[in-house]
Amino acid sequence: MHCPFCNANDTKVIDSRLVSDGVQVRRRRECLACHERFTTFEAAELLMPRLIKQDGSRQPFDEQKLRAGMQRALEKRPVSIEDIEVSIAQIKHALQVMGEREVASSVVGSLVMEQLSKLDQVAYVRFASVYRSFQDISEFQEEINRLQKSSQQKREQEK
Ligand SMILES: [Zn+2]
Repeated sequence: MHCPFCNANDTKVIDSRLVSDGVQVRRRRECLACHERFTTFEAAELLMPRLIKQDGSRQPFDEQKLRAGMQRALEKRPVSIEDIEVSIAQIKHALQVMGEREVASSVVGSLVMEQLSKLDQVAYVRFASVYRSFQDISEFQEEINRLQKSSQQKREQEK
């Protein structure tokens, strides 16, 4: 790999570790010519299915869009970037193992909701309220009650 500072050919790996739940390898490299250090991320490339929108049009899977949507829901919430990346990796993995060339975009929406419900309940409700566009306030209240009940159960299990 070329050095991004001086363009020399010879760089050596000085550290290598798995990140994002093992789907990426982070490598620290050092240039043998100028001795600058830099980081690379490596991930296996698997084909993502195309998404079928509600109007029937097809769109390529857009990871940036997915990330932006999740970050919007998680704005100012106490969730680390690393945790968001793990969730994105899991969503992509779920789509890849389906082995379909095309999936409904609502499948991605459900996967995002599933991940957000594990990461942060406020973010989950934010996303769900936009995504599902709750019909009325009582439906919204039901969802919040359901969440409170499940987090209560979780707390009791931990006792
Ligand atoms: Zn260099």
